[in-house]
Amino acid sequence: MSVAERAAREQRIANAAAVVERCRKCEIGSIRQNAVYGEGDPCATLLVVGEGPGETEDRSGRPFVGRAGALLEKMLGAIALRRDDVFICNTVKCRPTFDDGVRLRNRAPSPDEMSNCRPYLDEQIEIVRPRAILALGAPAAKSFMGPKFSITKQRGQWFEGPSGIATLATFHPAYILRITGGELEATKRLVWADLKAVRAKLEAVDASPPGDAAPAQTTLFE
Ligand code: URA
Repeated sequence: MSVAERAAREQRIANAAAVVERCRKCEIGSIRQNAVYGEGDPCATLLVVGEGPGETEDRSGRPFVGRAGALLEKMLGAIALRRDDVFICNTVKCRPTFDDGVRLRNRAPSPDEMSNCRPYLDEQIEIVRPRAILALGAPAAKSFMGPKFSITKQRGQWFEGPSGIATLATFHPAYILRITGGELEATKRLVWADLKAVRAKLEAVDASPPGDAAPAQTTLFE
């Protein structure tokens, strides 16, 4: 990637983030503290797409910086990727919330919110031009593979995603954090297989996969 190409992509990302910052298409655009555009390498071979910002992300304006983000970093680390090697974003750029009478709580993004935000996600894909997309959780997976996609039955398989980009879904780190015992161990094994499939895909599409981080682990992420 030439220096000029990298600079051009960085500029496009900055411009697009400024547009998202001004966006008020949805009600949550006026309630949020910060828009969470996404961040990472604009020339990344892997795009990681989550559901939507949570409370910590809303406060900081950065994706995956809470507990789920810490686990995501471990998951990426297990296949020798650092956070900075990939581009991380969400299907929606504002925190979807509801008021339970005491405080604002997280909720899944509505179909309208996802469709209002979709052009921003498509633009990110167009700018970064990743060789693979990792969708975290059912909402992100369904947004690429369609409403019938089953995260339990179809995770770990490669699909032709947006612009024909190889797309694979795995369980969302926030889900992994909620389960315990045998279910947790079984889920981690599945996620580990999915992560290895991502690593193999990156190696197949690019003789020199990103990152000079430590070699990929040979065991489950902890
Ligand atoms: N969960 C998500 O889906 N996205 C974030 O940015 C944080 C938590």
